[in-house]
Amino acid sequence: MIELAHIFKAYGTHRALNDLSLKIGEKETVCLIGKMGSGKSTLLKCLAGLVQPDSGEIIFKNGKRPRMGMIFQHFNLFPHMDVLHNLTLAPMKVLGLSAKEAEQTAMEQLESVGLASKCRMFPHELSEGQQQRLAIARSLVMKPEVLLLDEPLSALDPMAVGEVTDVLRKLKKEMTLVMNTHKLDIAAELADKVVFLDRGHVCEEGSAEQVLVSPCNEATRRFLSYMKDLYYTIESAHFDRPELNARIEQYCNRFGLGSQAYRFVQLAVEESLNIVPLDNGVHVKLSKAEHE
Ligand code: ADP
Ligand code: MG
Repeated sequence: MIELAHIFKAYGTHRALNDLSLKIGEKETVCLIGKMGSGKSTLLKCLAGLVQPDSGEIIFKNGKRPRMGMIFQHFNLFPHMDVLHNLTLAPMKVLGLSAKEAEQTAMEQLESVGLASKCRMFPHELSEGQQQRLAIARSLVMKPEVLLLDEPLSALDPMAVGEVTDVLRKLKKEMTLVMNTHKLDIAAELADKVVFLDRGHVCEEGSAEQVLVSPCNEATRRFLSYMKDLYYTIESAHFDRPELNARIEQYCNRFGLGSQAYRFVQLAVEESLNIVPLDNGVHVKLSKAEHE
């Protein structure tokens, strides 16, 4: 068990974590949700020991930091090494395994994420989903008890999201996972506990059912409705069209809709905006219907 107690962390005058307290149980899967800038990554980095809190305590069971691995949105693989060597480097350097032992462990983990046949390829030759699975395997060779994942699904296309989610489904039975994600459907499926962060503070926590379906807190409700719909305010005819288009693309991506779909939505919005006067301001709201 890990307990974060009254953690504060500021960058300059900005409080990234503000009296944050949280308990993480053994082999629990915890999903962190919240707006951009709410402190999710900072919390993961504090757990990993990459960032030192200004005050507060991180308490580990038996007083000993468990072995932890961290996975990032953009994989952070070693580009000049093949798949196998991406996995053997740390176990040889850090754990002192022989080359043969390291290769054996590496192959076992590649097997477990379905990449054994790719061991001689280089990261750039792999698909996004394969690269993220490789990043996970690279953490697993260090035998972590806790895996920290910072938006592991955000840079992935829908098929890759499925592949990586399969791996997470398996890992969740074996170790503690603490994951930050915008994919609420996946958080709902995987999480034993969902934690909603707001301005560096735990605003609400509970089962996926409690937090995502019937939240008690007003800020949680606002966040969920913001995630469900896209809101955009146009002030005048000279508004930032590329920005609106980017927001539409982002919104469609969140539901795994392809580029055809978002271009179609962009066009539909553009057409609609052609027939209303923009000078007095317009609110645009997009909602995704259940099965469309
Ligand atoms: P999230 O992952 O939820 O988007 P972060 O933990 O990355 O949020 O950031 C929380 C806040 O702290 C943000 O306002 C961000 O700009 C700020 N922040 C994060 N890292 C740094 C840093 N290294 N230097 C300065 N400000 C930072
Ligand atoms: Mg982040």
